[in-house]
Amino acid sequence: MRFSFLLWLITQLTFVSAQNVFEIDLNRYRNDALELQYTPYAVPPSDTLVFSFPATVPGTYDTQDYGRFVTRLTALDALQRPLPVKRIGVNRWYIFKARNLQHITYCVEDVIDKPVRKHPIFQPAATAFDSNVFLFNGGGVFGYIEGAESQQVSVRVKKPKRLYGLTALDTKLENDSLQVFRATSYHQLIDCPVLFTKPDTVCFKVNQTDVTLSVFDVQGTSRARNMYNALKRDMNAVAKVLPVLPVKAYTFIIYVDDLRPLGAVLNGNSMSFFKKIQLALQFRNLGLGALEHGQSSVYYLGDFGSEITLRDLQLESQLSSAAIHEFMHIITPLGLHSECIGNFNYQNPVMSKHLWLYEGVTEYFAHYIKYKGGVYTENEFLKVMQEKLRVGATFPINTMAFTEMSAHVLESKYQKYYTQVYERGAALAFLLDAEIQRLTQNKKRLLDVVLQLHAQYGPAHSFSEDSCFEMFTRAVHPELKVFFDTYINGKTAWEPNKQLHALHLHFHDSLRVLTRLNPLNERHNDIKVKRNATGTMAEIIKTGPQEWAGFMPGDKINYIEFSENFAAHKNTDDVFSVSLNRKGKKIMLQINPKTGLVLENSVLQKQEGKSFLLN
Ligand SMILES: [Zn+2]
Repeated sequence: MRFSFLLWLITQLTFVSAQNVFEIDLNRYRNDALELQYTPYAVPPSDTLVFSFPATVPGTYDTQDYGRFVTRLTALDALQRPLPVKRIGVNRWYIFKARNLQHITYCVEDVIDKPVRKHPIFQPAATAFDSNVFLFNGGGVFGYIEGAESQQVSVRVKKPKRLYGLTALDTKLENDSLQVFRATSYHQLIDCPVLFTKPDTVCFKVNQTDVTLSVFDVQGTSRARNMYNALKRDMNAVAKVLPVLPVKAYTFIIYVDDLRPLGAVLNGNSMSFFKKIQLALQFRNLGLGALEHGQSSVYYLGDFGSEITLRDLQLESQLSSAAIHEFMHIITPLGLHSECIGNFNYQNPVMSKHLWLYEGVTEYFAHYIKYKGGVYTENEFLKVMQEKLRVGATFPINTMAFTEMSAHVLESKYQKYYTQVYERGAALAFLLDAEIQRLTQNKKRLLDVVLQLHAQYGPAHSFSEDSCFEMFTRAVHPELKVFFDTYINGKTAWEPNKQLHALHLHFHDSLRVLTRLNPLNERHNDIKVKRNATGTMAEIIKTGPQEWAGFMPGDKINYIEFSENFAAHKNTDDVFSVSLNRKGKKIMLQINPKTGLVLENSVLQKQEGKSFLLN
């Protein structure tokens, strides 16, 4: 058995050009399901093999169990006679008499519109099939023979002429109706999603890298040009800060869903209780956001309607808030990772303890580049870091080290702190950058060290889980190890000023700050305010003698509109007007600005008389 397995491996090495082939006909898509035929070029000379779909895929740090969406799996011999098959779990099938295996056929249902209670799949990792769009996230479409993940794969897709499959994979249009894709391995197939749609595309360059952006909009609106405009400033910042990018080409894949009914609720439009419940159920697992890959990223965004006032929910903001982070993943983990990611196990993944690096450092770089590339002012950058330090401090560091949360992130006890990778993780990266600049007398910065290690390892070589901290320490200074042992691998509460003083910054747990007063904030004005359940409307319940803005009890204000308006009037002497409902009448209230000393928690400030230093 062992001998013959070895022989099989040698055959694989010898016939490198041989490929496993998937065949799909998009024209035959029926009832939300696609039929596939898989032809392995070599099967292990064993009586039984295991055909599987991923339980999870890199970058999601969550369970997908794509096998849930697979039906009618059949194994056939050369004469099209079925071979015995037995399902042995959500994602795995035994195929018996495997020496005779010629094809495997199966159907996959799409994920995007299937509400599932347990382990809902994050939309950017989902599949979507409809006559106008086919979004392939490989795990939800392609299975693999266990042990054959490193073999080459080709995918032959028959398609309607009007659709084109955009992807980072090597691809060729054989004719109008047949597009062929080639992957060097199953890993690459999973790492390269494909979006088949009527092309709505923009191509541009970031330094030497060719970037393509492709959009599918459920409502059929053409959006690529607007999306490009939303990205342009950030991409220019990337080009300024990173003169050489580690990829030749990059693809943004964007799926825009129609979430206008939800937008109406958020805008405070009246709606029956029944309708609200219906919407809440429909959208309960909604995962707006993005997922990174080596040379592409997939975005699931929502159109909340043109009247949406909440800036974060405007379509272009949704894209630009995620895109630079996803793009920066080309450095880590995609070009710098441990063996847990390099040799990813789709069934029983071993989670890496270095999420501080993959997500924390990436999130920090996204903001660092915006600052260095001129998108953020110094103040805006410090505000972002202040917020990360504030939220990051709520991580239960006495009970779990950051590396421990990371290594166990699939367990629910730890999963609930996952989002801290973007908060505490990014704050740790900021402190690490300060520490590196201190230890090297400002000769090195975190970005230099990460790029140096990226050049050393790259996408094809993994570092070992346990050597990561030594690797960084060796590249910087022996003392850096203490930082890792104490704050990242240890359970010690951070003392940010130990690192931040090197940048001429000071973090205050609380401080009286001269602030532009917010007339609707109870700490800033002598009022009592009640907000409705969705937080969209505010009502003045009571006013006291110190009330200064002109509000009266009973005034009703669209809170979202007000907040946007208040944020837009940054200048301390701007008069601004608020539209409100007073005793059933709409009035405009002119508010004179006011400043005052307010006790704030978590304040990041420059040290008295010094200027902020960040290389
Ligand atoms: Zn990320």
